Amino acid sequence: MIFKPEEYRIPDEPMKPFIDPDEIWEYINNTEPTRESVQAVIQKSLNKERLNLKDTATLVNAKDPDLIEEIKEGARKLKELVYGNRIVLFAPLYIGNKCTNDCQYCGFRVSNKEAVRKTLDDSEIKKEVAALEDNGQKRLILVYGEHPDYDADYIAHTVKTVYEVKQGNGEIRRVNINAAPLDIEGFRKVHEAGIGTYQVFQETYHPEAYKEYHLGGKKRDYNYRLTSLDRAMEAGIDDVGIGALFGLYDWRFEALAMVRHTNHFEACYDVGPHTLSFPRIQDAASIGLSDKYNVDDDTFTHLIAALRLAVPYTGLILTARENPRVRKEVMRFGVSQIDGGTKLELGSYQNSINEDQDLNKEQFMINDSRSLNQIIDELLDDGFLPSFCTACYRLGRTGEHFMEFSVPGFIKRYCTPNAILTLSEYLMDYAPEDTREKGWKVIENNLKELEENNFKNVPEIRERIDRIKEGERDLYF
Ligand code: SAM
Ligand code: SF4
Repeated sequence: MIFKPEEYRIPDEPMKPFIDPDEIWEYINNTEPTRESVQAVIQKSLNKERLNLKDTATLVNAKDPDLIEEIKEGARKLKELVYGNRIVLFAPLYIGNKCTNDCQYCGFRVSNKEAVRKTLDDSEIKKEVAALEDNGQKRLILVYGEHPDYDADYIAHTVKTVYEVKQGNGEIRRVNINAAPLDIEGFRKVHEAGIGTYQVFQETYHPEAYKEYHLGGKKRDYNYRLTSLDRAMEAGIDDVGIGALFGLYDWRFEALAMVRHTNHFEACYDVGPHTLSFPRIQDAASIGLSDKYNVDDDTFTHLIAALRLAVPYTGLILTARENPRVRKEVMRFGVSQIDGGTKLELGSYQNSINEDQDLNKEQFMINDSRSLNQIIDELLDDGFLPSFCTACYRLGRTGEHFMEFSVPGFIKRYCTPNAILTLSEYLMDYAPEDTREKGWKVIENNLKELEENNFKNVPEIRERIDRIKEGERDLYF
C-alpha cells in the first residue's frame, strides 16, 4: 500500500503534515479533565476502542492523584482483560557506534571525541551472538550509529550473519533493527534479509525542539526521519516501531504525537505500529542537557498507563534504561516486551566479567544490569509467563498484536501455548535447577487455566512439551 498524501487532502484546505504542533497543543491546552470524562475515556478503552487525541489529552492532563490512580488501574485492567500474563524477552546487540550525527543526548554523537569507536566484524558478531544464544536469547534487536559504513547492504549482511549462528540448541529466530532511516530501496534490502521490526524513534515530535537537539548530520532533517517508516511500509515492512525520547520536550506533547503517528499509519496502511517505545534520557558521556523536561518516576508511570489505554492494541517496549523497581511497577500496565541480560558495550557479551559501564564506550547508562536468568526468575515469581515466541512473524501472521487484541481466543490458542513451549526450551537448555523448578510450576498453572477455560489444545501442548523434553526444538502453533 502506498501513501498518497493528495488522497487525504480536503479540497481548498492547505495541506498539513500529519504532526501539527499547534493542533496537539490546542488539545492539551483546551482539555480540562473531570472525574466523569476520565472515567468515560478509561471505559472507552476497556471497550476496546482506540482513543483519539482529545481522549488522550484527557488522560495526560489529569492531575488529581486519585484520578491518576484510576488511569493506572484502567491500564492494569486492560492488560489483564486482553493480554494476560506473557512478557516477551529480547536483548539489544550494538553492531557499530560510528556516527556522523550530533544528537546532544547521545554518547555516540560525532562531537564526543572521547568516544571509543568500534564496529564488530563478522567473527565478532558471531561470537557475540553465540554468547547470547548460550544465555538462552532467541530475539535480538541490532543497533547501529548513523554512518556511511552502515548502509542498507551492510545492515542486511549483519542480519544474515546473525541468523547463521547456531550454537548448541541455540539460534536467533527474530532479528529486529534500530538504525537510521533508509530510502525505499534500502528498506527493501533489509526487509529481504528477513528482519522483524524496524524501529526508528522520532526522539521529539516537536520540530523546533528537534532542531535544538540535532546539531549536525543527516538526522537534522526532521521530516526525513518522520516519514522514514512510511518508506519502510512502501518497501513492504509492515512491522514498524515508533518512539519518543522522554526528557527532550513536554511529555504530554510526545504522547499525543505518538497517538497521531499511530492514526497516520492506520489511515494510510490499515495497520498501526507494531510497538511503541518510551525511553527516558539516561546519563551519557558528557551530556549537559537542561532538566526542564525531565520525567520523574510518577509521571513516567502515568505516561505509560495513558499510552496503554490510548493505543490498546500495540506492543509496549520497556528497556533496561529503567531500574528494576520501575520496571516491576509498569510491567503491570501492559508492557509486552522487555530486554534481559542487557550489555551496551560493543563486544561485551563474549566476556562474562560484569565490569562497570564506561560511558565513552557505551551509548548511555543502564539501570538494570541483571542477567537474563535473574529477570526470568523475577517474572516467574511475579506470576508472569516469560516468552521467546517468534511464531507469528515466522508464519507470516503479521499484526499479531492486533490479532491478540481483536480476535477472541487468539492469545489462548497461540500466544500462551507458544510462550509455554519457548519457556520449556529455555528451562531444558539454559535454566539453573531452581529456575527450572519454578518454571515448570508456572507452566503447569497456565495449562490448568487453559483447561479451566475449556481450551481444547492442552493435550497437544503437553505432548509437545514431552517432545521438547526428549530433545526436539522449535515447536510452535
Ligand atoms: N543511530 C540510530 C538512530 O539515531 O536512529 C539508532 C538509534 S540509537 C543507537 C537508539 C536510541 O537510543 C535513539 O533513537 C535514542 O532514542 C536513544 N538514546 C540515545 N541517547 C540516549 C540516552 N542518553 N538515554 C536514553 N536513550 C538514548
Ligand atoms: Fe548517532 Fe543515533 Fe546517537 Fe544520534 S542517537 S548520535 S544518530 S547513534
